[in-house]
Amino acid sequence: MVHPHPLAHVQFKHRCNACGDAYAVTLYDVLQEKRIQREWRSPRPPRGCHANFDSLVSEIPAELLDDVDRAWQRLIAHLPPEIDLQSV
Ligand SMILES: [Zn+2]
Repeated sequence: MVHPHPLAHVQFKHRCNACGDAYAVTLYDVLQEKRIQREWRSPRPPRGCHANFDSLVSEIPAELLDDVDRAWQRLIAHLPPEIDLQSV
């Protein structure tokens, strides 16, 4: 079962320097992106929308997002089974 994640409900608008588009990024997206970056070193430099996004992501401390994630995982592990979490 996939639980909702509180960081998926916190978002900000990111404006791309390359194309000028603005799109919503959640802190959960950032958490996932950090994990991907930790495991994979991109063989080529990021381009386009992603170049901009990567530099933004690098300014958000990964360990603080991990703190929230760990606290959340501990919390849901201790919820009684009759509590069925829903996203709002
Ligand atoms: Zn773009």
